[in-house]
Amino acid sequence: MVTVAPLLLLDARPAQASHSWSNYHWSRTSNPLVLRLGDSVNSSWDGYLHTASAMWNSPVGGFPPVVSTQVVYSGRDPRTCRPVSTRTEVCNATYGQVGWLGLAQIGISRGHIAHGVAKMNDTYFNQAQYNTPSWRQLVMCQEVAHTFGLGHQDENFNNANLGSCMDYTRAPDGGGTYGPSNVAPNAHDFQQLFTIYGGHLDLLAVASSLAAAESPSSARSGGNSPREWGIPTARDPDGFPNHYVRTHGNGDQTLTHVFWVRTNNSGQGVAPTVNAPRARGN
Ligand SMILES: [Zn+2]
Ligand SMILES: [Zn+2]
Repeated sequence: MVTVAPLLLLDARPAQASHSWSNYHWSRTSNPLVLRLGDSVNSSWDGYLHTASAMWNSPVGGFPPVVSTQVVYSGRDPRTCRPVSTRTEVCNATYGQVGWLGLAQIGISRGHIAHGVAKMNDTYFNQAQYNTPSWRQLVMCQEVAHTFGLGHQDENFNNANLGSCMDYTRAPDGGGTYGPSNVAPNAHDFQQLFTIYGGHLDLLAVASSLAAAESPSSARSGGNSPREWGIPTARDPDGFPNHYVRTHGNGDQTLTHVFWVRTNNSGQGVAPTVNAPRARGN
């Protein structure tokens, strides 16, 4: 007797997703998901945003496109970078010596992503160490993709590059023992996106969650400091918490992914000035 497993086509969460961000995804009734990227960056970042959008729209490795991004003019106040329902808002500003280079946040409502925010911190990108095309492209590529629901491939800053913007590094250009550059997505990133989005469709399109997404708790700005991000839920190998979850009163959540600044030449990270993370094991 042959038993045939039923196909789960509607909202079945992927069983394997080694670097998705907790398997969260935008709801949609057909693929590809069309995700608007609200352009609230200035001219120093526009090219990197458009390049990131184009790269994520062009899968490598033979995977079908399941996420299609569209840059749309937004022009909102980048300092608050207030979330906008049903899309990802992308901002740059001098957010101060807060310790992070880039930040991505997603608002979760009814089990799905209701909005995304990606911020680039010019306080550090204006400094020589990070003011390079490769640093800007890597961080833009990574933060935008976190709002798709994609996590990191590798969180060790010191090992060889994987050729993916979802891989932490001290050398975004690659070279020497670092190998390939990390400014673009690679085939494994598109494989993961296909794992997240290719396996199921939702009964409702993202716009149907608009009412919930616009509730005050879930649409609030996610903040720029750890005390506003909730509970740390993951740490990188250097002991830095890089993923936080804050649960709001109505059960909605804000998830935050943090790209901390690092020094050039040592294994020690630069301690953020607010709520400095403990070393792992303390
Ligand atoms: Zn779903
Ligand atoms: Zn990240």
